[in-house]
Amino acid sequence: MSATRVTTRFAPSPTGELHLGNARTALFSWLFARHHGGSFVLRIEDTDTERSKEPFTQALMDDLRWMGLVWDRGPGDPGDEYRQSRRGAIYARHSATLDARGFTYPCYCTPLELEMSRKAQLAAGRPPRYAGTCRDLSPEARVRKSAQGISPTTRFRVPAGRVVEFDDMVHGAQRFATDDIGDFILRRADGSAAFFFSNAIDDAAMGITHVLRGEDHLTNTPRQLLVLEALELRTPTYGHLSLLVGADGAPLSKRHGATSVREFRERGYLPGALANHLFRLGHSSGENGVLSPEAMPRHFTVKHLGRAPARFEESQLNVWQREVAHHMPLEDSERWLAAETPDDIDPARRRAFIAAIRPNVLLPKDVAHWRAVVFGASPPLDAGALERVREAGPAFFRAAADAARAGGKLKGIVNAVQAATGAKGPSLWKPLRLALTGTTEGPELAPLLDAMPDSAIHDRLNRFAA
Ligand code: GLU
Ligand code: ZN
Repeated sequence: MSATRVTTRFAPSPTGELHLGNARTALFSWLFARHHGGSFVLRIEDTDTERSKEPFTQALMDDLRWMGLVWDRGPGDPGDEYRQSRRGAIYARHSATLDARGFTYPCYCTPLELEMSRKAQLAAGRPPRYAGTCRDLSPEARVRKSAQGISPTTRFRVPAGRVVEFDDMVHGAQRFATDDIGDFILRRADGSAAFFFSNAIDDAAMGITHVLRGEDHLTNTPRQLLVLEALELRTPTYGHLSLLVGADGAPLSKRHGATSVREFRERGYLPGALANHLFRLGHSSGENGVLSPEAMPRHFTVKHLGRAPARFEESQLNVWQREVAHHMPLEDSERWLAAETPDDIDPARRRAFIAAIRPNVLLPKDVAHWRAVVFGASPPLDAGALERVREAGPAFFRAAADAARAGGKLKGIVNAVQAATGAKGPSLWKPLRLALTGTTEGPELAPLLDAMPDSAIHDRLNRFAA
């Protein structure tokens, strides 16, 4: 028996920024492929020509690369067969097969007629579905409709009285009665392929073995299985991922603040932090530490996918962000925070600065404060702080300033002050820290002074020396 290589795909519609829910779908699909040593395909579902925009395609590919979700096949490959807008001929071919096999018929219903039928069914307390109006139109009636200038859509003739069954990787055994499924549109009036059709055809044509996608598609699956069966094409195994909700339990939306990968990226979140949070959304993991992109696939198990809505929480993301940001190589931190550091300082000082403040930085925006503290004017002191500094006395600061002028860093300054005044413990540290940084909190003083210009250290101490 020839084992088929596991192949998964991510199939976004480029009608907006990459949403967190979709990013998680992409991550899980990528992990599933990597876990099984399989292949991951990116397919751009741009059949909605009104709403699909090339810049969205470019942006979402960029966001996927940023997350490390590299695809093995996708747009840009020879022939560029990975955008649905370029696959019209393939859909036309399969469409002709379905026509020839009697699985289709033209539907002349206008949007208004369909809407009225829908309302009538709802009013009667029935789930709305296509009423089958055009299913059995006579050839003469069809000619007449066409003569009126109506371009028909093409509907799939759903077989009556059957049950479609499949085993969902997340939701388990599924059964759908075909009598509950209305005949659905395969081709729009302009001849373009509709979602159910192009999506199913492409999964088969691209050799997709496993589809992970949002739960909102669960009820689409029986329709797609019917299409594939009618075409005698191979069906993938489906798994429908639980909904992503915000901290309040409502479906993740703008109201929760940032919801796209782009927004988090622009705020300086790190891909490893986002991936680690998404990894645990609807996927239980006994792995409590940060997983690297190399290790993550090993720990991904479809069996651990849950059905309950998964909560995206910024506070939780921040936990991962802290973890990743504080443990990455210093060079990576430098690159991450480059735009926030002064550009007129030499590389060694820049590195010392980043090393000093890194434990206090969650996002790049946090740098500005420490940048002002280290490189700005002498920090002003509030009344309480002034009081403490005065208590230490001018002799304390004369000794400190002299040591600083002589090029002493923290150790030299501390030794000089101790020798001159005998101060120790908080009565040594607090006045020093206040004079140098304006606050008693923040990064460790020694590394901070390694970054601070010597003249600034001297001036800040010297202002209390008289
Ligand atoms: N383009 C569809 C979407 O973004 C793809 C659904 C699927 O993954 O099958 O919802
Ligand atoms: Zn009709």
